[in-house]
Amino acid sequence: MQIAEMIKSAGVVGAGGGGFPTHVKAQSQVEYVLVNGAECEPLIHKDVELMTHRSAEILDGLRLLMQSTGATRGVVGIKKKNGRAVEVFRGALAGTELEVLELGDFYPAGDEYELVQLATGRLIPPGGIPLDVGCVVSNVETLFNIGMAAKDSPVTHKFVSVAGLVHEPKSFWVPIGTSYRKLLDFAGGTTQSDFVMLVSGVLMGGFSTDLDEVVTKTCAGLIVLPANHYLVSRKTRSTEQMNRIGKSACDQCTACTEFCPRYLLGYDIQPHKVMRSLGFTTSGTDYWNKFATYCCSCGLCTLYACPEELFPREACEQAKTSMREAGQKYQQVKAPRIHSMKDYRRVPTKSLLRRLRIAKYELPTPFADGFPAPDEVRIMLQQHAGKPAVPGVKVGTNVQVNDLLADIPEDSLGARIHASLTGKVSEVTDEYICIITDAVVKSGGDTV
Ligand code: SF4
Ligand code: SF4
Repeated sequence: MQIAEMIKSAGVVGAGGGGFPTHVKAQSQVEYVLVNGAECEPLIHKDVELMTHRSAEILDGLRLLMQSTGATRGVVGIKKKNGRAVEVFRGALAGTELEVLELGDFYPAGDEYELVQLATGRLIPPGGIPLDVGCVVSNVETLFNIGMAAKDSPVTHKFVSVAGLVHEPKSFWVPIGTSYRKLLDFAGGTTQSDFVMLVSGVLMGGFSTDLDEVVTKTCAGLIVLPANHYLVSRKTRSTEQMNRIGKSACDQCTACTEFCPRYLLGYDIQPHKVMRSLGFTTSGTDYWNKFATYCCSCGLCTLYACPEELFPREACEQAKTSMREAGQKYQQVKAPRIHSMKDYRRVPTKSLLRRLRIAKYELPTPFADGFPAPDEVRIMLQQHAGKPAVPGVKVGTNVQVNDLLADIPEDSLGARIHASLTGKVSEVTDEYICIITDAVVKSGGDTV
């Protein structure tokens, strides 16, 4: 089987958050494969743990992806501060054609535009993708999954960190479809009863209070914070509130733009101008929306740069949606040119931790084995970019771990989904497939 077919068959998608089906990237022809081990979101350290404990599988995946894409150069990006992971990879790569690139401890070091520039000196054209400059960027866990695909092992488990207000912060493998409740149990439970969860990251992640939500192929883990934490008030404002405050309080100081990492790379993204679309000028929303086109939603402007604690990131997201709905496009004409102040305006992780009032939760999340198999999993059909997978099993079907549950719709972008638990299919809907174990069936929990 060709490498790209093998990756497709195993249901590998970008595990770093994007969920883009990896077999599509594996079909391209490039010069570089760049390994994204930057892990720049604060508090979650699962990629560093994986790099330290599973480097052989990651390198297997890297070599396979290089072979598939014809790449002659492979670069592994790791933050210099993660000395153990750097040491492991330097040792493993000694005498090979592959290199380690040590990254500074700033946010967002893992933005693919940033990583491509640092590793190759090339700037992706405005609105483009790494492929446009001969690169494929892949997260370390994605490469691990490619390595496992070569051993006939599809993606059934996710590596996650649980951090914050738990008794035992740690990083571990869980079956996809496991509830957040089980993750918190394995981390020793929460240290406070009144808590919320940030899902997959402080800056770019989601927000949840629902313990029955489940792990997907792109979930990086949970950060447990007090229910009255500063970030809760920043992340739970309604759009109407954000717009009202923004309209009345933005003084056009431009700090959001001056700190924007994409602006500093030379792209025409200017969130302070997008704020004008909220209605405090008479020039018209359409004119100002275009300055959001190249925003990557990193969150730095909203959560770090703005002295008034406004919401420029969210204004950019609204602007992009409006443009999409209106069929409008904006194309930067000038080639991007790196800002002379770029290196001096980088935001160190330490400053970010202090600004977000989470410094005291910055603790190791060491690798841990032994997550107990759950009695039930709920496996989402849409865990990736593209169309949801199409179920190929029915209620009552007996399945084993690794069995195919749902396939890619014909002629569509998508990814296959496999069973993460041995048991019986108890529910199939348009959104998910549930599997329960024999123990649940015998106790009367079988819904067949
Ligand atoms: S940093 Fe805040 S106050 Fe200043 S221009 Fe941006 S949104 Fe307005
Ligand atoms: S979220 Fe803000 S800082 Fe980040 S890319 Fe968008 S505008 Fe720039």
